Amino acid sequence: MRDYGAGPSRRADARDVRITDVETAVIEGNFDWNLVRIHTDAGVTGLGESYRGGRVTDIMGYMTDFLVGENPLDVERLFRRLVQETSGHGGTTGKVVTAASGVEIALWDLAGKLLDVPTYQLLGGKYRDEVRLYCDCHAGEAYAVDTGYTDYGDEAAYEPAAYAETATQAVELGFDAIKFDLDTPADNDPDPFNGRLSAADVAEKEAIVEAVVEAVGDDAEVAFDCHWDYSLDTAKRLARALEPYELLWLEDVVPPENVDAQREVARSTSTPLATGENRFRVHEFSDLLYDFAVDVVTPDPTTCGGLAESRAIANRAEENYITFSPHNVCSPVGTMACVHLGASVPNFDYLEYHALEVDWWDDLLVRSDPLIRDGRIAVPERPGLGVELDEDVAADHAKGEGLWTSRTD
Ligand SMILES: [Mg+2]
Repeated sequence: MRDYGAGPSRRADARDVRITDVETAVIEGNFDWNLVRIHTDAGVTGLGESYRGGRVTDIMGYMTDFLVGENPLDVERLFRRLVQETSGHGGTTGKVVTAASGVEIALWDLAGKLLDVPTYQLLGGKYRDEVRLYCDCHAGEAYAVDTGYTDYGDEAAYEPAAYAETATQAVELGFDAIKFDLDTPADNDPDPFNGRLSAADVAEKEAIVEAVVEAVGDDAEVAFDCHWDYSLDTAKRLARALEPYELLWLEDVVPPENVDAQREVARSTSTPLATGENRFRVHEFSDLLYDFAVDVVTPDPTTCGGLAESRAIANRAEENYITFSPHNVCSPVGTMACVHLGASVPNFDYLEYHALEVDWWDDLLVRSDPLIRDGRIAVPERPGLGVELDEDVAADHAKGEGLWTSRTD
């Protein structure tokens, strides 16, 4: 078996640094934001974030055993070591990769600070000075993490006019791309399991799409998300029905496990399809990208393996002339990691922004200006990720007792 714990021994004194501790925190935003902070004997810390999910911070805490004493500059070897050590020496996917993703991001933050360069510089340099965001919007009732789409709530919230109104508001904030959920609780009626929509159901969705596209006109591109809900025939009919609206993309039309089904839909329509947010590491993207089953690839860097793994996925997409628009529901910490990634990837298009409903979202960072301006985030020039957590704001929204937890406490 490969021994990723066997690090190199020779290093210049200025880069001879050791990790001393790992802390984790959970911030309660519109999702649980799983943060990690890594300490070193150089007095420099690194900040990262993993995608939401139960016990992810416990796994990140367990990873302390394999990080303390290591040199944080060996980012990619350490990522492989963490996946190997926490997966029973065989797994390459799942929640351990999610946990390792946040640690990997914290290591890139550390590496940038130790070498006194922005993280994008370590990812290969930058193509752009600012990263465009698309705004994830909700009509009427926002998607509830706790209940999902099990409660219809106010039916008027799902009328086309409600979508159009929110779309107009997002465009007025300066976003030139927006996205809505096209799946609604009504999809579960009459049957919550088979994923088939009637012709009337498809027509209702077309009316929503038409209302949004007409409301924003040429001011914004529009995407819709289907959350893996539909059967193959429904996915094909829906994608074809939406062709006249020239969408930015239609996301996750069929369940994620079956690339052949995804490709069947792609072959049947001119509507661009997007998928990727629940796949891990480059291997789970290869079929999608090399079989042309997707038009826009949407990995989540805090899920799929961190910034280097995401860059590797983006490179495979670039090879096939496929654009790269990362999924992102993070706090500003994970979001800024994605900004460095977006700056460094040639085929990057949009980064998701999913916190319109959280008015303290960018208060989590010490800063003097709003983080987002005109639907864009400026690529930081400070070392590392260029972010500093506002500990007071973070503590106000921390889950449980206190903010940070360390296994060495
Ligand atoms: Mg999605």
